[in-house]
Amino acid sequence: MKRQKTREPLPRPLNLRKYFPFGQYPQMTPNQEASLIQIETDDGRSTLEAPTGTGKTAVGFTFLKALGAQGLGPLFYIAPSKAIVHQVGRLHPEVKTVYGRNECDCIFYPEETLKADQIPTIFCSTCKHYVDQASGTVREPGCRACPYYRQKYEAKQAEIVVATMAFYLFTQLFTREWETPAGLVVDEAHKFPHVVRACLSYEITDHNLWRAVAILKDIDPEVSIQLATFARRLISTVKKRSRFKEPLLDDREINSLIEVLEEVDADRIERQLKEALRQGEIDPIDDRETIKQLESIFLNLRRYLHMLHYSVATEGHGALNFTFAYINEEPGPYDKVIYKLVIKAWYVAPLIASILSPRTVALSATIGDPEIFGWETGIRSDVHALGSDFPVTNTRIFLPSDTPNLAVKSRSRQDKTKALRRIAQAAKQFARRGHRSLVVVISNDEREKFMTLSEAEGLHTLSYGNGTTARDVAARFRDGEGDCLVGTMAHYGEGIDLPRQVAPIIFMLRPGYANPHDPATQFEKRRFSPSRYWALQNYRVMQEALQVRGRNVRGPEDLGVTFFISQQFRRFVRAALPQWLEPACVARKTFDECIADTMKLLSD
Ligand code: SF4
Repeated sequence: MKRQKTREPLPRPLNLRKYFPFGQYPQMTPNQEASLIQIETDDGRSTLEAPTGTGKTAVGFTFLKALGAQGLGPLFYIAPSKAIVHQVGRLHPEVKTVYGRNECDCIFYPEETLKADQIPTIFCSTCKHYVDQASGTVREPGCRACPYYRQKYEAKQAEIVVATMAFYLFTQLFTREWETPAGLVVDEAHKFPHVVRACLSYEITDHNLWRAVAILKDIDPEVSIQLATFARRLISTVKKRSRFKEPLLDDREINSLIEVLEEVDADRIERQLKEALRQGEIDPIDDRETIKQLESIFLNLRRYLHMLHYSVATEGHGALNFTFAYINEEPGPYDKVIYKLVIKAWYVAPLIASILSPRTVALSATIGDPEIFGWETGIRSDVHALGSDFPVTNTRIFLPSDTPNLAVKSRSRQDKTKALRRIAQAAKQFARRGHRSLVVVISNDEREKFMTLSEAEGLHTLSYGNGTTARDVAARFRDGEGDCLVGTMAHYGEGIDLPRQVAPIIFMLRPGYANPHDPATQFEKRRFSPSRYWALQNYRVMQEALQVRGRNVRGPEDLGVTFFISQQFRRFVRAALPQWLEPACVARKTFDECIADTMKLLSD
């Protein structure tokens, strides 16, 4: 993690304006113009906060295009999801989009439908479809090119590569297939830490370890014994830890696991597999699943070790990851996992900082406090909040004065149910006038309660569950089914777009402060000062509130309001708003007055 970046001046004159894609956009908006000037002033090291729908993608593209024209590369545009990568590729066809193994078909096994991530990578280098990454030629002339390796080879030739954050992370951190980019655009930059944490989390279970021990028994008895020793140490550690209330392992326990894990010779397993493949002793078709399991053992063992090391504080830094134990106290007849160790990357800012380009432009609609944003993401360039090209009069942010405080310590037994019922009644009132609503809650219990209350109020509400996915039900709602859609923050807080008055009204029940029993919360309490801990908590709920608010205003024509119900929101929503949105905040009206205000806005 030591690839320090220095600030490199942009080659001048860069003349960013010249590279703006006027072919795709009729004209440059004031926000886009201001963004390009700022990027040039900051030598390509900027963080820009601008509302969704204001053309940030075009700004990022222009920046990379200008660098490309100077002969600089590689150039990356990264985004949290495949959907955004696809969208950027559609908007700017001259970029090369590239996806992970899990998105590409493997064509070596014509009888089966397999993705490339289901194939042991050691097979790929001997596969007839493999595409040489230096020359682009297919291993066996006349054979079809492997889709995964072909797109990767093409990306290596492209001027601008658009990829998911996960792809970028793995290729910069593990495979190191690209040099540090000469220019990088990070779209939805606030999500980078979440993606990194999700990618660098591992579960080690007793079931998987014993299975690996059994497979290795015939191939390499010595390594099998080493792994069995680790399995026993893991089980005894988890058992002991389960006697305590806190599942987080301490440094002594982690060091004891590292000690045994270091004895397992993962390199030897890899060498033996490669040799067996070379000698034709293993068959890519018959032995695929076994080899895949073995490959994940040797790949993962190295990663477990690395992750465990970073779970321990050193003289130079505190713990960056945390490790916790889980025990299934009452296993059912089909439960295979009894003991589990979970290792999660947590303080990922140094890691992200190590894979940024010296010229990184970060884009987001919700930066919030720049200091905490930098602390969370490792992106520490100057933050510039841009105005909006949307009329602020098209939106309202309601903090009703007479709704309950739903904090655990403040609410009475019936407060939550009453608040949910009041939302259902309001949504019904809106539905009678032809206006649809989105309701965002925190827990699944709240979601189910709202469904019951909707039924009682005669409100046609859609939600997921019983085999229906959140994505499918959101698509049905967008297509016009139902008057109301309800889901948790995890499902509908971000990533669902309801533009053009699909659901001009949003209700957010309460902020989702972290569960104190969650291992991540315990880690943060242990690791950081109380002021840092609370600053982080508040920052996250602010981010969530801003994300929810943005669901229904995606363009300058959209009308949309958001009701923040619990009085807890009063503590931070106003302070979290970007300057251009402040006039939209309404905090002195009652809930009924806010409803009347909304009716007026939507009927004008
Ligand atoms: S190189 Fe061959 S085995 Fe590997 S993913 Fe591609 S088609 Fe499948």
